[in-house]
Amino acid sequence: MPIRILSPKVASQIAAGEVIERPASVVKELLENAIDAKADSIHVEVRQGGRRLMSVADNGMGIPAAEVELAFARHATSKLQDVSDLEHITTLGFRGEALASIASVSQTTLVTRAAGEELGTRLRIEGAQAARNERCGHPQGTTVRVENLFYNVPARLKFLRRDATERKHIDALVTRYAMAYPGLRFVLENDGRLSFRSPGSGALLDVLIEVYGLEAAQQMIAVDSSLGARSATPRDASIAVTGYVSQPALHRGTREQITLFVNGRWVRDRGLTFAIEQAYHTLLPVNRHPLAVLSVTLPPQEVDVNVHPTKSEVKFRHRDAVFRAVQRNVREALLANADIPSAGPLAAGGTGWAERRAPLGGATQHEMPFPRQEAGYRTSLGADTQPWFPETPPDPGKLPPLRVLGQMAQCYIVAEGPEGMYLIDQHAAHERVLYERLLAQQATAQVAVQHLLEPLTVELTPAQSEELETWLEPLLKLGFEVEPFGGHTVLVRAIPTTLGRIDVRQTLAGILDDLSLEQTPLADEIDAQMAAAACKRGAVKAGQTLGEEEMRALVRQLEETTSPRTCPHGRPTMILLGQAWLEREFGRR
Ligand code: ADP
Ligand code: MG
Repeated sequence: MPIRILSPKVASQIAAGEVIERPASVVKELLENAIDAKADSIHVEVRQGGRRLMSVADNGMGIPAAEVELAFARHATSKLQDVSDLEHITTLGFRGEALASIASVSQTTLVTRAAGEELGTRLRIEGAQAARNERCGHPQGTTVRVENLFYNVPARLKFLRRDATERKHIDALVTRYAMAYPGLRFVLENDGRLSFRSPGSGALLDVLIEVYGLEAAQQMIAVDSSLGARSATPRDASIAVTGYVSQPALHRGTREQITLFVNGRWVRDRGLTFAIEQAYHTLLPVNRHPLAVLSVTLPPQEVDVNVHPTKSEVKFRHRDAVFRAVQRNVREALLANADIPSAGPLAAGGTGWAERRAPLGGATQHEMPFPRQEAGYRTSLGADTQPWFPETPPDPGKLPPLRVLGQMAQCYIVAEGPEGMYLIDQHAAHERVLYERLLAQQATAQVAVQHLLEPLTVELTPAQSEELETWLEPLLKLGFEVEPFGGHTVLVRAIPTTLGRIDVRQTLAGILDDLSLEQTPLADEIDAQMAAAACKRGAVKAGQTLGEEEMRALVRQLEETTSPRTCPHGRPTMILLGQAWLEREFGRR
């Protein structure tokens, strides 16, 4: 083909792809415009996951009638004139691309009335062609309705996920902005039903209660850099860090609940996420992550916001200073919080070593044959010598009978078998046991159910209750009798007996959180996926001290499973330190 210049229509659709990836991107741009317009009340309405309709209504300053059409031109903005303005941007938008992009891939209607104007203006645009422009009544502010997104870009339409998934992205986005701007009132309606609202009181905690539920919100600790944390340099002092982080007792399996804002803009930043996690150093179990909602505020010239078309990444001029400020303030907030056991666990080494020894009885009461420094015993397994590889237990089928010797790091059961020493991950092992039991019960439709004396009300977060809709059936099949009870509250009447004594609230919330991260399973995998999620939540945790009897029982049950060597998620339940390897390491051979 000869070289040709693309038609403006094609060029604009291609450019739109950078900004508008999915329905949530539209909502994001519209929210940012509303916030930039100084609205204090924002109403978002979504139908069919945004596919059918997304409408954002604000009570901001509106657009003067004479400028309405211009607002839809590419690179038309009222927020920036000169490239030098980029150095001190204080608005969320500045690229002048959003409305143009949205209009080129949807049917868009904008109605607005600017302060001081008597009549409003309505403009309807289809695939970037202005169709109608008329005067009409409208309260001060702007309403943008975006219908049939990607109706003219079938390639994009194909990539949209099912409605529930797109809706989840939108929910996450609106709640994020509500957390970033606690002074604004947000309302989110999904398919005609209220799914989230924030009170606009100005207190972030009020928003957190709506997002996480009262119980979790009460376990959050305030971070406020104006209260104390010493700053090393004047630059550090110009970086403010405020928000909330979870007490170490509250944690999640993913980093999804770490939310960061830089100068009022939600950003993804692995470095800062890491800084927060580092502040929890040793306070959280392995592979668990805190909840955090943190705002970093610093002089605008210290951040480059123009890194990415969706503006979700920023560059810091002095990265280390920001990293330090986040870490220091989170750490201090955690330390100032009384619920944390004294400085002990913060020092090197694991937690509660002394208590751990006691229940093991016998031999372990004596000096441990490990190097004296507790932290050292990990490296004694060869990290500093040569790499070593645990052997995969030989027979992929049944386990040989094992003799339990004790527990290590409140995490592993140490056992002896014919081939050598086994380290069994107590959580993974228990998951496997529960999983096979639940599946067996499901297969014979004989799920053992334990009715609660009184139905328990559980308050879910909007995201969790959203997820529940998808999983209600499989939950029921598994033995969780759960019924919606208005709003985001549900009634739990019964739980699967197999899971034993669980914290119903935590378990249910945890299951829904985990499932929300999964790909939509194939129909015949739904029950198994649900069972796996339930086992993950119901199983003994790492960090739990087990008595000798409990360990023996667990190992016996594991011996009886059909696939004792992996957990339902495919990770190993055990590693074997074989005789041969031990002998080699001890120089016996
Ligand atoms: P940007 O936000 O980057 O300036 P947009 O395409 O999102 O670009 O919007 C173009 C312009 O339209 C904005 O600069 C602003 O002047 C105006 N505008 C858009 N949405 C609103 C709104 N909700 N209220 C007031 N003005 C708006
Ligand atoms: Mg904008």
